Amino acid sequence: PSPGHDLAVRAIQITEAGGPDVLTPTELDDPAPGPGQILVEVAAAGVNFIDTYQREGIYPMTLPYVPGMEGAGRVRALGAGVEDVAVGDRVAWCEQLGSYAELVVVEAAKAVPVPDGVADDVAVGALLQGMTAHFLVHDTYPVQAGDDVLVHAAAGGVGLLLTQLATAKGARVIGTVSTPEKEELARGAGAAEVIRYTETDDLAGDVRALTGGTGVAVVYDSVGKTTFDASLDSLRVRGMLVLFGAASGPVPPVDPQRLNRGGSLFLTRPTLFHHVPTPEALRARAAAVYAAVADGTLDVRIGHRYPLADARTAHEDLQARRTTGKVLLLP
Ligand code: NDP
Repeated sequence: PSPGHDLAVRAIQITEAGGPDVLTPTELDDPAPGPGQILVEVAAAGVNFIDTYQREGIYPMTLPYVPGMEGAGRVRALGAGVEDVAVGDRVAWCEQLGSYAELVVVEAAKAVPVPDGVADDVAVGALLQGMTAHFLVHDTYPVQAGDDVLVHAAAGGVGLLLTQLATAKGARVIGTVSTPEKEELARGAGAAEVIRYTETDDLAGDVRALTGGTGVAVVYDSVGKTTFDASLDSLRVRGMLVLFGAASGPVPPVDPQRLNRGGSLFLTRPTLFHHVPTPEALRARAAAVYAAVADGTLDVRIGHRYPLADARTAHEDLQARRTTGKVLLLP
């Protein structure tokens, strides 16, 4: 806060569910950390697709609220009983509403340390989306060298990271994207093949043609409604469809017999927060991702930086498929 405005914190507030225009710049009272909490000066807040589901009311929220789950910054004050974090530490978090703001109160147990070699914007870009890519390739379907893997929205925030991690494990990644610019980014992240899924009538047929008719071992599908059928039809016998998002809308109910007909297929719908269930698990996974960033295995592309007050434009661009890589808000 500037001098003379000690008690005013710039933030984005939502008072009713709706389109991007409900993201309203406002000023709020200076928050104070309670027991077990820390107060952090936000250096960068992450914009994630889940923010749009929450804003629209697909995930019901208690109103009014300050949106944003993710950010990185420097600790300014500690609440009672906080021992493993100090004032001045650099931390990041991805499970804390209120992040679209200059200052945010974070549960100390949900804050992870940011290593010296990782800049604030990269720390945000690597956290929610990086840990998602990490559990998808290690835990949901452990990718093996030689696997054919289909990654939808391969130039998106999660997509670029997922493509890199699967490629690093020796998989052959087939990415889908909507534009030539995104195709270039997906190839840069390691995709061996790229399909413009907006320009084909037979996505599954294209995937089969690229895999000698066999189909892929796993599909990572965060697009949902518009890709789900083609994803199922792209799998090899006993392949796995990992549905982890709904950027194009939710998938209608599925008849389990389709898994039988498709070849004893597996279908799962995983979420990050079940893969970092304890502070220890969260810190371990974040540390693994940050180590991959620091040693150069994982290149985090910050696609877009918007001033905090332009949160509305950031959401519009994300939902209109105009973004690539990570989208940040800068207070
Ligand atoms: P992205 O940067 O991937 O943006 C979404 C991308 O989806 C777009 O850029 C676009 O790429 C593609 N897309 C396809 N159809 C549509 C459509 N109709 N409307 C909008 N986008 C579309 O976002 P994130 O990296 O933040 O998130 C990606 C997905 O992963 C989301 O579905 C999100 O919910 C999910 N997710 C799930 C998590 C979990 O734990 N389950 C955790 C984190 C993210 P193109 O133009 O190339 O088609």
